[in-house]
Amino acid sequence: MKDTLKHRGMRNKLADVLEEKGITDSKVLGAIRTVPRHLFIDSSFEGHAYQNKAFPIAADQTISHPYTVAFQTSLLQLAPNQKVLEIGTGSGYQTAVLLHLKVKVYSIERQLELFKKTSLFFKKMGYRPKKLIFGDGYKGLPEEAPFDRIVVTAGAPEVPKALMAQLKVGGRLVIPIGTDEQIMTLFVRKSAKQFEKKTLGSFRFVPLLENKN
Ligand code: SAH
Repeated sequence: MKDTLKHRGMRNKLADVLEEKGITDSKVLGAIRTVPRHLFIDSSFEGHAYQNKAFPIAADQTISHPYTVAFQTSLLQLAPNQKVLEIGTGSGYQTAVLLHLKVKVYSIERQLELFKKTSLFFKKMGYRPKKLIFGDGYKGLPEEAPFDRIVVTAGAPEVPKALMAQLKVGGRLVIPIGTDEQIMTLFVRKSAKQFEKKTLGSFRFVPLLENKN
C-alpha cells in the first residue's frame, strides 16, 4: 500500500471531524493530518481507515478510534523532547502520533505477535521510538523512569502503582480506568505524594492484562 494525495485528503477530512468533536490542539490535529493510518491496519480495512472507527489488528486487539488517540494525546499536553511511556503499542498508530509531536517514546506491548509486527513496520517506515519493549506494561519501565508523560491505551481495572511511581513531579498520566467500560482519567503529579485526578468521559478499550507469572 502507498500513501497518496487521496489518502491525505481523507486525513484532512478526518482532522476536521475530530475538530468538530472538540479536539482543539493544532499540533495533535496536525499529527492526524500527517500519520498514514491506512498503513497501520490490514489492507482489507483500507477504505475505512479515515473514518472515526476502531478495527481489529492482530492477536484479538484493536487500533483505537482516531478520536480516542487525539483525545488522549491532547490530554498529555506534550512538549518536544519529553520522555513518554506508552503502554499498549498495538498497531503503533498512537506511537507514531506521539513521534510526530517530537517526543521520546518508550512503548510496551505484551502480545509477541503485535510487538514483532509493529517493530518491523516501524523499521520499514523509518519511525524511531527510543524503545519498543515486549513486556508487561503493569510494571512500567523502571530502568528508564521517571517519565514526563505516561499514556495507557488499554482499559485498566485500576491504576498500576508502578506507573504512578514512575511519573515525574509535574508529569501527566492518562489512563482509561474500568472493566466493561472505562472512564478516561488524568493524573497530574503535584508532588512526591500528591496526585490531582480528573475524570473525562467514558470510553471502551480492550483490557490491560497482567502477566501473572
Ligand atoms: N495504541 C494501540 C492500541 C492497541 S489496543 C493502537 O491504537 O493500535 C491495546 C494494546 O494494549 C493491545 O495491543 C494489547 O495487547 C496491549 N496490552 C494489553 N495489556 C498490556 C500490558 N499489560 N502491557 C503492555 N501492553 C498491553
